[in-house]
Amino acid sequence: MSEIREHELVIVGGGAAGLTAGIYAMRYGLEMVLLAIGGPGGQTATATVIENFPGFPDGITGAELIMRLGQQAENFGVTFESAEVKQIAPEPEDGRWRLDCGSTEIVAEAIILAVGASPRRLKIPGERDLFGKGVSYCATCDGFFYRGKTVAVIGGGNSAIEEALYLSDIAEKVYVVHRRDELRAERILAERAFKVDNLELVWDTIPAEILGDASGVTGIALHNKKTNEDSEIDLDGVFVAIGYEPNTSFLEGLIELTDGFVVTDQRMRTSQPGIFAAGDVRDTPLRQVTTAVGDAAIAADSAYRYVAQRRSER
Ligand code: NAP
Repeated sequence: MSEIREHELVIVGGGAAGLTAGIYAMRYGLEMVLLAIGGPGGQTATATVIENFPGFPDGITGAELIMRLGQQAENFGVTFESAEVKQIAPEPEDGRWRLDCGSTEIVAEAIILAVGASPRRLKIPGERDLFGKGVSYCATCDGFFYRGKTVAVIGGGNSAIEEALYLSDIAEKVYVVHRRDELRAERILAERAFKVDNLELVWDTIPAEILGDASGVTGIALHNKKTNEDSEIDLDGVFVAIGYEPNTSFLEGLIELTDGFVVTDQRMRTSQPGIFAAGDVRDTPLRQVTTAVGDAAIAADSAYRYVAQRRSER
């Protein structure tokens, strides 16, 4: 039988949003725990450099920013616990929520969902088999292995261009394979990429297969959508940066989702009372560290008001 505990607030997720919500919740005096699968981290921790987080004129690495945020949360007394929430269900009759974490069950007055999103997969042959053998979703984590080598980045958004710029300082040659003839990335990043000698954009092209053998990735098979031509490039590594998918499968049927993202109002309230959401998991027009921490401040404020109201009704 699992252990059952009670908390006023449970924050699910240890990225920028979860940590910020923790800092605010502690300052409001809420009794809480922060659940994260592998400790503080999230997508922010994998960002090569964050140049648009206010207060860091020279930029800051994602790892450093998360380390500092984690430290700040700890200073305010946030308790971290390594756990994966498998299901959330209403407690019969008392308006609280029960989180099933496998060996532990937690009953909470309020929950802040800050579970973020995971890298989207290409879903093409070779991707899964060669993961960790040349296929990567994180240039900061794995770029180091490609000194003097040839790599491709797939995608045309901010992540793809930032990863390509980072890799261009390490690898001998970086291809960026993009399915359209125009980048989605912000102009400042695109213009930077156009000026880099060892970075080549491959337009209107989709990857058909990642090629490899027992030693790892050897190349990529491509298809040009405009000319209908097929081609291959010899490569040592492929970095996939085609966006993110929300980590919300465990929430299906519980709260309103749109395309998998959690729908909230401007106070970060979901469709269920006492459940709030913040950060990239939310249905929002902009997914940045800045917006995640803003969401988190509002979510913690809303959770505090909700818990205080329930306390006063008892
Ligand atoms: P994104 O903005 O959604 O871009 C994804 C890119 O991948 C797009 O260019 C898209 O092509 C392409 N793509 C999607 N599915 C594909 C597929 N199956 N095959 C081939 N290409 C595919 O994702 P992101 O770059 O990861 O960024 C996610 C969010 O984080 C965005 O809001 C972004 O602004 C933010 N972010 C910000 C910064 C920054 O501010 N410095 C850095 C990183 C990320 P199309 O263009 O044709 O759709």
